[in-house]
Amino acid sequence: MRYKSRKNWLKTIGSARSIERLCQEWMRVKILVQKFGGTSVATSEMRNYAANHIERALSDGYRVVVVVSAMGRRGEPYATDTLLSMFENASSVSPRDMDIIMSCGEAISAVVFSSLLRSRGHEVTVMNGAQAGIITTKDFTNARVLEVNPTRILHELGQNRIVVVMGFQGVTPEGDITTLGRGGSDTTATALGVALDAEYVDIFTDVEGIMTADPRIVTNAKRIRQVTYSEICNLAYQGAKVIHPRAVEIAMQKNIPIRVRSTALEDEGTLVTSHVSFLETHVVHDQLITGVTQTTHVTRLLIPASGKDGARVFRIMAEHNISVDFISVQEGKVAYTVPNTKADLAVRLLNESGYSVEVLPDCAKVSCVGAAIAGTPGVMARIYTALAEENVEILQFADSHTTMWCLVRMDQMETAVRALHREFCLEELVQQNVSR
Ligand code: ADP
Ligand code: MG
Repeated sequence: MRYKSRKNWLKTIGSARSIERLCQEWMRVKILVQKFGGTSVATSEMRNYAANHIERALSDGYRVVVVVSAMGRRGEPYATDTLLSMFENASSVSPRDMDIIMSCGEAISAVVFSSLLRSRGHEVTVMNGAQAGIITTKDFTNARVLEVNPTRILHELGQNRIVVVMGFQGVTPEGDITTLGRGGSDTTATALGVALDAEYVDIFTDVEGIMTADPRIVTNAKRIRQVTYSEICNLAYQGAKVIHPRAVEIAMQKNIPIRVRSTALEDEGTLVTSHVSFLETHVVHDQLITGVTQTTHVTRLLIPASGKDGARVFRIMAEHNISVDFISVQEGKVAYTVPNTKADLAVRLLNESGYSVEVLPDCAKVSCVGAAIAGTPGVMARIYTALAEENVEILQFADSHTTMWCLVRMDQMETAVRALHREFCLEELVQQNVSR
């Protein structure tokens, strides 16, 4: 991905004043990108909380770029999922057309939100993805950012305006509207943060920050005060949907710190950077596990086959765009998971290619993530014991230096997550950290 930095941009404009001085002035300007998720812009009460955060940033001397998601979640009138539900049975909608409809939710929310900011006395410019300079690949419904050209945003910020950008959207070099896939507004925010050399990218959402487990499952999950890019990426790839992993990877390229924060609170949330500052957090514990997370509704396929067949099996999956996970290739058998929604297709394709398949439907992958796992003996034994005590059967197990994964039955997933959260004392460790 290529970003045109503000320094380069300044060099390209004509100058009445010395370019050098202009550069220096801009370099002193602090920019903040603040992204508000679906629930954070869904009601007038939440939008007012969001506006308070923006005003606080302005009074701290920041120029603010706001990124908004579509308002609300599935079932609510202007949410993206609601717009999509109109077409659930219509295979006649092309991916390119799909992106035109999918990008509407953010258009509505950006204009609604900007009207609130104007009513509070601010000058505001609303931009869609193209106007904000987000250039992407042509992979409609799941495009990747190729380049960000922040010229227009910088111009508007220079006029002391707040810029409200429709998240989740981009444009191809040919001018077609694209969307960035699930969690795409997070990606808009960090891509802009990098291009603008933002001091922080704030991801505002409906929880206090990144928690030690999904608070919908573990009610006493605790906020993690500081975490590294790689750990949160790992958590996010394993299912913690609070921030999109691709967004984290983009911020990491230029070391732009991310803060995951609650819209309804004034708290600092979770700070995501390249290194956790132990001095600042006064962490005295050598915390083994940072968080527990889960990927739900997957089907395990087990194929009696040799390692050589494995290559063919995975090629068949790739040709049909079926993502595979939790791969285990052992003597005489190949096992892996696919999303439940792709299971029938996967089995049919395998049967057609002459493979018999043993199907284990509706499973979940529960993951323990922590940089300190590497080199610590006994972690696997603790996981096995904690789950056995709760009668949770481990269907498959795998580990790496930083993550341990267990496949369990979907109806045992919540029990497993809670048992592991308890086993690694996540509520206690973080509490000490918080109450310094
Ligand atoms: P937004 O619409 O603001 O982008 P998301 O639904 O994408 O919000 O992300 C916030 C949700 O992520 C929370 O409501 C929470 O249920 C879920 N979540 C899952 N795992 C975690 C975790 N480890 N920490 C915090 N939230 C999590
Ligand atoms: Mg999100």
